Amino acid sequence: MSTVSQPKPVYLDYAAATPVDGRVLSAMRPYWSDIYANPSALTASAGAARRTVEDARRRVARQIGAKPYQIIFTSGATEANNLALKGAMAKLGGHLLVSAVEHESVLEPARQLKHDLIPVNKYGELEVERLKKLIGDRTSLISVIHVSNETGVIQPLAEIAGLIREVRRDRIGRGVKRPLLLHSDAAQSPLTNDIKAHRLGTDLMTLSAQKIYGPKGAGCLYVRDPRWLSPQMHGGGQELGLRSGTEPVPQIVGFAAALELAALKRPSRQKKFQALYEHLIARLAAKQPDVRVNAPSRHRAPHIVSLLVPGADGEALVMALDQRGIEVATGSACAAAGDAPSHVLTALGLTRTEAAATLRISFGTATTVRDLDRFVAALGEVR
Ligand code: PMP
Repeated sequence: MSTVSQPKPVYLDYAAATPVDGRVLSAMRPYWSDIYANPSALTASAGAARRTVEDARRRVARQIGAKPYQIIFTSGATEANNLALKGAMAKLGGHLLVSAVEHESVLEPARQLKHDLIPVNKYGELEVERLKKLIGDRTSLISVIHVSNETGVIQPLAEIAGLIREVRRDRIGRGVKRPLLLHSDAAQSPLTNDIKAHRLGTDLMTLSAQKIYGPKGAGCLYVRDPRWLSPQMHGGGQELGLRSGTEPVPQIVGFAAALELAALKRPSRQKKFQALYEHLIARLAAKQPDVRVNAPSRHRAPHIVSLLVPGADGEALVMALDQRGIEVATGSACAAAGDAPSHVLTALGLTRTEAAATLRISFGTATTVRDLDRFVAALGEVR
């Protein structure tokens, strides 16, 4: 066995998964083997588990500025997105609009429904005027991601919600009965952005614990009026009958703790991530001047950066960097199995070759300037 210790890998793939924060882990600990009864049972132990879930629901609701009954716990963002789209469209009928830069867990359910795509500009931003032209009297749901998991671009949800209010007023005036709702996949948002539903203007919103230093296997769908949804998971009738299945108490507690921690740490993390972003861009400009940022919107979460490395094969770069102990992604890790270029990048107008020459770098709380310098140096070696 070699006695020479390898340096720890530089992990720059936090948008795919974060570690669980120690404080979150401590909060979860009692619920594995001390308080383990089924929250739906009738015993005293079950009562303790049920109160724990309801306390977590109140805490999650508070972070969203919602009422507890508006929170439906799910296994994560994929399930929440499926429930939002399939559940609302089954109940409301009509037509669906989704942005061209959604995560697959929105796009794939949309493909099973009547839908159209809302384009984005070369900066990765949805333009509200273009959306306006796509809304018809049959449109009942619009789904727009908040912070992009591939580019970090933040979509103008409040502005979109303003347009939706206008459309609703116009429909009432003309006696058109169909509702129009806004859903947003905000799985990547809580670390850097406020997620109060009334400020964003969302009627439905997806959150996930595993992107915010919480456990995998937990998340929620916020829904302003649960009567808009029909269940997609049938069984014991948990979660207002909208999501049957025994509640995973430790994960739910961990999710609530992670969301509170995200809000508490948001200002300092924003500052740290912004400084890291600026350092990365300056370092690249000095050492790899032809590398450029895809979707160069000013409205962005600084910890998720999509880089075009001209002439490179992104997948080969990821593997070569991995061998040097630098862990990055091509597009989104969840779609990494597919051969097709990222639909998010081609939606910005990148060619297939450019999209395939892209790396995604995402920072976390443990990332240092030195980590970024090691990445830039290694990139120079492997190109
Ligand atoms: N939406 C977004 C924006 C994401 O980044 C992810 C995870 N990559 C998901 C949905 C899916 O999350 P999960 O795998 O936790 O269900």
